[in-house]
Amino acid sequence: MARPVDSGGGEFRGARERLVETLREKGIRDLSVLRAIEMTPRHNFVPTGLRHRAYEDAPLPIGNGQTISQPWVHARYLELLELKGTEKVLEIGTGSGYQTVLLSHLVAQVFSIERIAALAQQAREAIQRAGARNVNLSIGDGTVGWREYAPYDAILVGAGAPAIPQPLVDQLAEGGRLLVPVGDREEQQLVVVQKKDGKVTTRDIAPMRFVPLLGSHGWGIDEGR
Ligand code: SAH
Repeated sequence: MARPVDSGGGEFRGARERLVETLREKGIRDLSVLRAIEMTPRHNFVPTGLRHRAYEDAPLPIGNGQTISQPWVHARYLELLELKGTEKVLEIGTGSGYQTVLLSHLVAQVFSIERIAALAQQAREAIQRAGARNVNLSIGDGTVGWREYAPYDAILVGAGAPAIPQPLVDQLAEGGRLLVPVGDREEQQLVVVQKKDGKVTTRDIAPMRFVPLLGSHGWGIDEGR
């Protein structure tokens, strides 16, 4: 008998359904976000030795001192953006590429920047394997944004910043939202920045813990460690 190829379903489907149920119990309500999580094989975005833990609601190490965020954090981020499906979005900190693929299901175009080339390469392969076609990746300092394709309807920063990076505010479209964790190296406050009628407002959401955002509008390379 032919063995089914694991194209993202297969052996992990039950675990993924249980993760979606856990997220629902923890208060995630946006059905399109829950559906994106149900469709995305998180086990392909973690190191092989950690695959058995891929559907726990926990962050996991992905190498180079970085982590794939906890699924609840990704779900909360995506829910806060109130996406319609037509957006052009910029992600800072591709990391594993998992959130990049969730975004690819939820918006029209995804641009994502990662500063560590080795992670960007791994992410590129995992994103391709997931079949996402509307994703553009770049290696470099995401704190300066990606001017070429600006403005963006939404910008997500997946690492903790000492302050809101001004270039990202500048590259936000009218009516757009920027999510960025701001604080010290140990703990940050997730902030939503909104641009409406040319005015910029900020709102604190919840305390979170992220790896540091390193770059010209982030932590200095030595400070961040
Ligand atoms: N959402 C990702 C988060 C990865 S951790 C995931 O769940 O996989 C945050 C990532 O931000 C790390 O890979 C880190 O290398 C990257 N990063 C930190 N500072 C950056 C910068 N200035 N520009 C781009 N990426 C950055």
